[in-house]
Amino acid sequence: MGLFDKFQKTQESLNSLRGYSQSFFNVVLEEIISSTEAVINGRPTILAGTNNYLGMPHRKECIEAACRAIEEQGTGTTGSRMANGTYSIHVELEQAISRFLQKRHTIVFTTGYSANLSILSTVVGPKDIVILDADCHASIYDGCRLGGVQVYRFRHNDMADLEKRLKRLTKKGTNILIAVEGLYSMLGDRAPLKEIADLKKEYGAYLLVDEAHSLGVLGEKGRGLAEEAGVEDQVDFVIGTFSKSLGSVGGYCSSDHQELELLRFTSRPYVFTASSSPANIAAARKALEIIEKEPELRERLWANANMLYGRLKEMNFQLGPEPSPIIPVRFREIPRAFEAWNGLLERGVYVNMVLPPATPDGTALLRCSLSAAHTPEQVEQIARAFEDIRHLA
Ligand code: PMP
Repeated sequence: MGLFDKFQKTQESLNSLRGYSQSFFNVVLEEIISSTEAVINGRPTILAGTNNYLGMPHRKECIEAACRAIEEQGTGTTGSRMANGTYSIHVELEQAISRFLQKRHTIVFTTGYSANLSILSTVVGPKDIVILDADCHASIYDGCRLGGVQVYRFRHNDMADLEKRLKRLTKKGTNILIAVEGLYSMLGDRAPLKEIADLKKEYGAYLLVDEAHSLGVLGEKGRGLAEEAGVEDQVDFVIGTFSKSLGSVGGYCSSDHQELELLRFTSRPYVFTASSSPANIAAARKALEIIEKEPELRERLWANANMLYGRLKEMNFQLGPEPSPIIPVRFREIPRAFEAWNGLLERGVYVNMVLPPATPDGTALLRCSLSAAHTPEQVEQIARAFEDIRHLA
């Protein structure tokens, strides 16, 4: 058995998929026109698969803040948060996130991935239990693996299944952390967070909510699903990323538990990686300020999401369970999903193609994500492109 034999299966499935679509493997955004448009295969294309919910990457104020940070502080920190990589802007952003989320403590990480990796590998250990929603992001699973915690999954958003596990596992007399997301990235549906918070209380567990897709998207002030569900005080650890509604790169964890601060000394994904660059931090900080000042961005995002969901529903596509800025469109057959994906691209619309095993039930998904920066005309153009490929679903 050679070192690379394990990749043979991957190579074979890549080869079989190549038969459907060459361009699927070579999507290059050749020129970025705006938050919602890029040149792909030489053609101006509407971006409808980017998780760029609020158009922040192209906001003038964010660009200026990032440029200023580079000029004043350089292109990179060349050090981990623990060593020379904590600048005053990292601390200021931590304070700004704490204020915004009304939590006492915040740690900023280099990515959202490392935020989950850090918390789940350090806060819980081999003697503890994590019960997580089966659809949780890979970084939640990977964090559990890194820390060696005992992991139990409950069926996606199935409260009876969660309670069954809580009932059984509390008998072990160990600490239990429930891990869920706010808005799920595959189906665009919300976690039933009120019920989850009630169960958490009833069984004396802890609760982690990854609001990667819900920061700036849900809640009256944009704080996420916990705000919308009125259960922020029940969330022990809020995880987030800068890479979606904030239009930058980085991540955070906020908590009222003062022990969070001790992770700065004990968590490997915090200690052993370089901190976010000044440009990333400054852009995220400015974007957070804009989210606080401009609730109309959220309104625009939801108007676009509701419009596209409604149009696709009228066409009888099989969609996710509720209108959302993430709209998955199901295709039963993979070759037809590829044909549809190519067809959309030829019509100047880019969406994400998601294939099993990443999809929940073995079907292929063409996943759209909407932005406040899309114009109603662009949303209509996306809908019309889907109308043209309707026969393939
Ligand atoms: N959590 C969730 C739910 C995500 O969807 C993602 C990114 N896709 C992450 C964490 C990781 O965030 P980042 O891109 O900042 O590493």
